[in-house]
Amino acid sequence: MPSDRLRCVECREPIPVDARICPHCRAVQPSPLLDVGVVVAGVFALLFGVVLAVMTVGTSRLLGFLLLVVGFGLAVGGYTRYIDRQAASRAR
Ligand SMILES: [Zn+2]
Repeated sequence: MPSDRLRCVECREPIPVDARICPHCRAVQPSPLLDVGVVVAGVFALLFGVVLAVMTVGTSRLLGFLLLVVGFGLAVGGYTRYIDRQAASRAR
């Protein structure tokens, strides 16, 4: 695991793993944990949306479909960001 050194998303300088802000250019670093949280939240919204859409009618069913769309977007977006980050940290 080459994860003991991260690189800044803006200036590509090596930064400490736990740094939230780049010491070189002060860019806020995206946290992989945050991405995981987004994906988990998205999956939960997706599941909840499915339950609402299937089990209920009327307004709550609409809400269920809305949650489905939002959850899907969050899950796919967070996962894509995570994959991008993995690829970026491997690339030299
Ligand atoms: Zn930087």
